[in-house]
Amino acid sequence: MDYFSGYISALVGQLSKLPGIGNKTAQRLAFHIMSMPKEQAHELADAIRDARENVRYCKTCCTLTDAEYCPVCSNPERDASTIMVVETARDLAAYEKTGRYSGVYHVLQGAISPMLGIGPDDIRLKELMQRLQGDVKEVIIATNSSLEGETTAMYLSKLIKPTGIKVTRIASGVPVGGDLEYIDEVTLLRALEGRTEL
Ligand code: ZN
Repeated sequence: MDYFSGYISALVGQLSKLPGIGNKTAQRLAFHIMSMPKEQAHELADAIRDARENVRYCKTCCTLTDAEYCPVCSNPERDASTIMVVETARDLAAYEKTGRYSGVYHVLQGAISPMLGIGPDDIRLKELMQRLQGDVKEVIIATNSSLEGETTAMYLSKLIKPTGIKVTRIASGVPVGGDLEYIDEVTLLRALEGRTEL
């Protein structure tokens, strides 16, 4: 790769660290960036820096947001006594798109995966347990139906049940390993409405 330029090699190296980007794709992207007008390349770099600098975790639900509290948590119309637990901010967005859920969320920022060495302390679980000390009536576990999602759901239910708070799990029907964001709204709503108590 040093046939062309150390700078390009460095760019390819950075791009190939992104998920789903192999070395070939990274090279293609790097050459594409080189062919862009300079301003456009700068805009790309600035967008990455700005997003990274300014986006933070909501102080309540841990989703990604620009302000101290996300739009859902800062909306007084939302029912704060019902918390839906999801893995990522993208899952939250999928449920928000249905426009039919009036509770709030908790975004774990991942799922427990013994295989990848991701334990309970590596996701936003402590923050959830702290929230449960408030006035919470139901926790809806909406983690993915992948192995990691199910492991997390089981772990959560064991942890929460002794508190006496109702714990429910969204109905399966969400395909195994399916990212919530790719599932249509009707299926999401059906999964939510068909949730069962754990
Ligand atoms: Zn929030």
